[in-house]
Amino acid sequence: MPSKPLKSDPSDVRASNIRAVFSLLFPSGQMSRAELGRRVGLSRMAISEVVAEMVDSHLLREMGMDSRTGRGKRSVMLAVDSDGWRIVSIDLTHRFVLRGALTDLCGRIVERTEIPCDDLGSVQPETVCDLCERLLAETDKPILGLGVAVPGIVVDDGVVSRSVNLGWTNVPLKERLEERFHIPAVVCNDTNMALLCECTFGQCSDNSMFVGVNDGVGAAVCVNGEIVMGQHCAGGESAHVVVDPKGPQCVCGKRGCLEALLSAPRLRKRIENEPEARTAILAEAGQRLGSALSMSVSLLDLSDIAVFGPPEIVGEAFIGAMREELEAGISADYRSTPVLHRCQQGEDLFLRGQAVAVVKLLIDRIHNSDLESRVPEKTGRDITGAASSQDPSRSERRPTAS
Ligand SMILES: [Zn+2]
Repeated sequence: MPSKPLKSDPSDVRASNIRAVFSLLFPSGQMSRAELGRRVGLSRMAISEVVAEMVDSHLLREMGMDSRTGRGKRSVMLAVDSDGWRIVSIDLTHRFVLRGALTDLCGRIVERTEIPCDDLGSVQPETVCDLCERLLAETDKPILGLGVAVPGIVVDDGVVSRSVNLGWTNVPLKERLEERFHIPAVVCNDTNMALLCECTFGQCSDNSMFVGVNDGVGAAVCVNGEIVMGQHCAGGESAHVVVDPKGPQCVCGKRGCLEALLSAPRLRKRIENEPEARTAILAEAGQRLGSALSMSVSLLDLSDIAVFGPPEIVGEAFIGAMREELEAGISADYRSTPVLHRCQQGEDLFLRGQAVAVVKLLIDRIHNSDLESRVPEKTGRDITGAASSQDPSRSERRPTAS
């Protein structure tokens, strides 16, 4: 997720107060006005004004009285108004299906829809727009923003500079979406979104790494609470770093890249050829990954690593060997070895992470007056009831591949 602040808000102070209050409560916290004011550093009157605006805009809601026992006046607690807005989130990481969801303001999925495709390489930006349109037709709540998680490099301004899987080069996806729907859009790298999901809902801390072992090998890094973008918005990309110069040929042309050695299809093939060596093959893979990552983990002083992948690959043998390798490689008396765990977020991690990115990047850009203008326009075929995802004429619609 880009960490640069979005420009063009008329009041930076207003925006930063909204962000600060929201981030204290997101996704599931509760605090009184007085506590929020103390934490943000605002006077009683100032925090009341900020909270009043956020309640009016359906960003926060009052939860009733503080139930904690104690002396003194009990105060009204505030929480994120999860149901006030919807986010459209799209996941382009699956080979044969485009997955989309509507989430609430806390990143919970409330509706989902998908478009099958013959191959990701046949997907055009228009197909992504079609999926957004279907999701918009499913709600009459205001839309905070559209988000798309893309397997590839996404540079500033939501341009997909390169996606091998999609076959896209310099596609201005954010601009296309905003032109078509007049709703702010956020386009991000898929692995960064997986890490954001794990940081928000899982076990990753502010200094962590996410590693995905699937058809490809992807990583993302969070340092001091910010996802590392790097010079080319390719922070974390390590699939095609050579770890064994004599290793197998990689699709990129080099030999012995991390991906050539550790991708799930490659490991499955090796196990198929030598089923009795299954545990040894997976342990060797885990050990290699641990060895390859130990320098970055040590260099950045990370505290935890989440590994995501098919359970038959990223299981006990793989994780155990990876943990041993990391411990042997980077243990020192001035710090503890990073915690290594399997990511438990399931298949929805890209959708939910992308929704969180939309919330974090756009939350300070709405005003009361937006409430009505952000309610999706209904066209003839999108009337409630008939427009449900069960409508066969809609679920059978094929992508506009070209
Ligand atoms: Zn390679």
